Amino acid sequence: MASLYKFPLKMHIGAPCKAIVKEGEALERGQCIAEPEGLGVKIHTSVSGTVDKITSSEIIIKAHEVQSKDYIRIKKCNTIKETCCEAGIVGAGGAGFPTYIKLDASIPDGYVIANCVECEPILGHNIAMIEQNPEVMLKGLQYAMEAVNAKNGIIAIKSKNKKSINSLTNSLSKYKNIIIKELDDIYPMGEERAIINQIFDKWLEPTQLPLEASSVVLNCETLCNITRAVEEGKPVIDKDVTVGGKLCNKKDVNIFFDVPIGTPVSEMIDRCGGIDGEYGEILLGGPYTGKAGSLDSDVVTKSLGGIVVTIPFPKYEGNVGLLVCACGANEDRLRYIASKMGAKVVEVLPCKNVENIRGVNKCKTPGKCPGQAAVILKFKKAGANRLIISNCSDCSNTVMNSAPQLGLGVYHHTDHVFRTVNHQLTRRLK
Ligand code: SF4
Repeated sequence: MASLYKFPLKMHIGAPCKAIVKEGEALERGQCIAEPEGLGVKIHTSVSGTVDKITSSEIIIKAHEVQSKDYIRIKKCNTIKETCCEAGIVGAGGAGFPTYIKLDASIPDGYVIANCVECEPILGHNIAMIEQNPEVMLKGLQYAMEAVNAKNGIIAIKSKNKKSINSLTNSLSKYKNIIIKELDDIYPMGEERAIINQIFDKWLEPTQLPLEASSVVLNCETLCNITRAVEEGKPVIDKDVTVGGKLCNKKDVNIFFDVPIGTPVSEMIDRCGGIDGEYGEILLGGPYTGKAGSLDSDVVTKSLGGIVVTIPFPKYEGNVGLLVCACGANEDRLRYIASKMGAKVVEVLPCKNVENIRGVNKCKTPGKCPGQAAVILKFKKAGANRLIISNCSDCSNTVMNSAPQLGLGVYHHTDHVFRTVNHQLTRRLK
């Protein structure tokens, strides 16, 4: 077990929290250590110990050698929404949006959708959780329905996850008005508007929220955290994590439940036997939306679900064009990969479906390709010999229908990650 645990003051969308503890102070697991200033949620320590250091971006706690699973409970609240606020619950699927704000709605004829899509390949902790213990998520879904007065609950899950669907089906008889909706296995099926389109056959505008379809969408682990907060008074102090890739234990995928937040990423890799030889990067998150992390400084946070050690990047010292998706890697991530390959970037273009809204790229119809031939021609004209793309499954198919014919090689930004674990590449997918 690590002795130092780091708690970033910003593990959510919004402003960084403010530390409410002092250096040298003794702490119990579950104690609140930081409070929001503006949009945000409370942060609680996952370990008992002493505050070692406080900086402008994190609180570092020196943990006691022996730790208990027990924790200080949050105060009793009058509503489920307040409970979520007090427990510091945010979207555990990567977004980190404060849950109590999502629950600030009343949709009597609407739906709470459990996002059990686990859209990113390799990551498997949500599906494993549902398979082993579906009740925790189902209860959370029911609490969320109660919080927003929604009559209906829908579990959105990929049809390929047969065991988890069976497990859910066996438990569903106890729950009223909750149904399972099986979705296609494409990227980005976990995007909220893609889920709503598959369920209701309706595209929301990029500026519209699920509420416009009388829906609130909550990730599987977020729902589990609601159950734990309501029934056990547990703040968000533990996280489920998938660790995969080039590891000495030779397992492509390792699933860990209830990892104390603040645990160093390096310790998670050590738990898998350490890194197996030369590697390319420590990817934090999933293959499509993850970012390069550091073994020295990164830790498990409230929204970190994946740690993948990849093979080295391939070398290509020619001219490349970057085709940027709104739902996968952004321009910075593609430039990072190009630099690791040693390539020269000669053009950067967004997918035709991207709309820039107040500086943020949004896709008009996530996962449904508008055709890519025109942008491929522009890359050719700019002198690119290869493309690095971050497109969704559907668009990658259409890129493959035109780029190779024009003599442009295609590298998808997930390639080195998928090659590490022998996963099918994002190319011509059915
Ligand atoms: S249509 Fe374009 S922007 Fe939308 S998900 Fe596919 S590649 Fe990304």
